[in-house]
Amino acid sequence: MNSDVVVVGGGMIGLACAWRAARAGLSVRLVDPEPGRGASNVAAGMLAPVTEVTYGEQEHLGLTIAGARAWPTFASELEDATGYDLGYRPTGTLLVGFDRDDAEALAELRAFQSELGLRVTALRSRELREREPMLSPRVRTGLLAGEDHRVEPRAVVAALLVAGEEAGVALKRASVARLDHVDDRVRGVTLTDGRRLRADEVVLAAGAWSATIDGLPDSAKPAVRPLKGQLLHLRALDGRPVLHTTVRALVRHRSVYLVPRDDGRLVVGASQEERGFDTTVTAGATRELLDDAASVVPGIDELELTESIAGLRPTTPDNAPVVGRTSSLSGLVLATGHHRNGVLLAPITAAAVADLLTGAEPTAALTAADPDRDALRAAPRPRSRPAPGLQAPRAANTGRHAPTATGTVTDHHPHQDPEVNT
Ligand SMILES: Cc1cc2nc3c(=O)[nH]c(=O)nc-3n(C[C@H](O)[C@H](O)[C@H](O)COP(=O)(O)OP(=O)(O)OC[C@H]3O[C@@H](n4cnc5c(N)ncnc54)[C@H](O)[C@@H]3O)c2cc1C
Repeated sequence: MNSDVVVVGGGMIGLACAWRAARAGLSVRLVDPEPGRGASNVAAGMLAPVTEVTYGEQEHLGLTIAGARAWPTFASELEDATGYDLGYRPTGTLLVGFDRDDAEALAELRAFQSELGLRVTALRSRELREREPMLSPRVRTGLLAGEDHRVEPRAVVAALLVAGEEAGVALKRASVARLDHVDDRVRGVTLTDGRRLRADEVVLAAGAWSATIDGLPDSAKPAVRPLKGQLLHLRALDGRPVLHTTVRALVRHRSVYLVPRDDGRLVVGASQEERGFDTTVTAGATRELLDDAASVVPGIDELELTESIAGLRPTTPDNAPVVGRTSSLSGLVLATGHHRNGVLLAPITAAAVADLLTGAEPTAALTAADPDRDALRAAPRPRSRPAPGLQAPRAANTGRHAPTATGTVTDHHPHQDPEVNT
């Protein structure tokens, strides 16, 4: 079976790439045994270049801001194509600290954000409560990042499946065993049942599994590993919204986020754990998430716990994605390694991949995602060192909070600790 393009992996990245490529006039086949059931099914849906910015990763800011700017057009095109409501809500994000140390950490973060020219506004206690009456009275100060928005990832995936089919994407529910190439030219893929799919171009978008496909020469294999994240879904029984804005909080140096939906659902996340391909949901992570979320929004104790779930972020040594052609294998386009920002970066990634496949010049913002960049070849950088008074992101199920001075759990930089993990 021949097509112009085979896309390996039907998470949000692969589905968006396939849709855009088909709309650009290419014949596209997408292969995934369970499309939409990977990390994209777990993601909270924050589109958060400002509140995600971390010390040492500011060179990715151009990419994440461009990613956020691509969302309004992408959302309206996808909604027009399908009639689906993607839950895209440009309502901003509140960043709050629970105790005095947390508030100080936020002040440091604000200084860093301002240095980078990012717009955040300090809010007083009364202003916070006017916006979000459910916030605990203990939360006295906060920041508003007016440009960090949200979307519903599961609705986006569902819409992309429909839009892709309508645009002519042929979906094959199967697993790719091997990338086929002759010398340095891609010829297609072989499925686990032995069948071959011929194509001039292969887009590798298999998320955390991207480096597990056979046949990839070492020089073209993306440096992607799984980074586990656990997350909870809650629901108000009366269906009224619990919050109007996403709230990201530091609670006794630990980070937690609460992402609302219009109908009373609330997503609470997330752990960050180096556990290989394990997706066990643990009591410890669930307890920590609920404790921290209830510290900032006590009313969540009354909500129904409807789902607890774990997913695998596709993560790279420098936490930036891998998008583009490799110099060692022609016909291979990598679209993976989106770490905490795969939802945010799906539109810009898909546009860049469609450009590459049709011979157009992709956006310059993608330079940070160059598959041949040195950072992907270098030894992994040192794990996090806590800055005074700060602490690194939540490390679930460890019986303690990360990090130690040597850091064993996260891959973050010293001053990035005030971030909240996606
Ligand atoms: C807890 C958590 C919260 C998050 N929150 C956010 C957020 O708020 N905002 C944000 O921007 N990002 C967030 N992320 C990150 C985001 O989920 C990922 O970056 C994004 O979903 C990656 O998409 P993907 O398509 O590359 O991977 P996936 O969605 O994992 O899809 C990969 C697909 O490849 C398929 N596959 C694997 N192997 C093969 C094979 N051999 N053959 C064929 N198919 C194969 C799998 O079945 C899967 O469907 C979060 C992640 C987690 C875990």
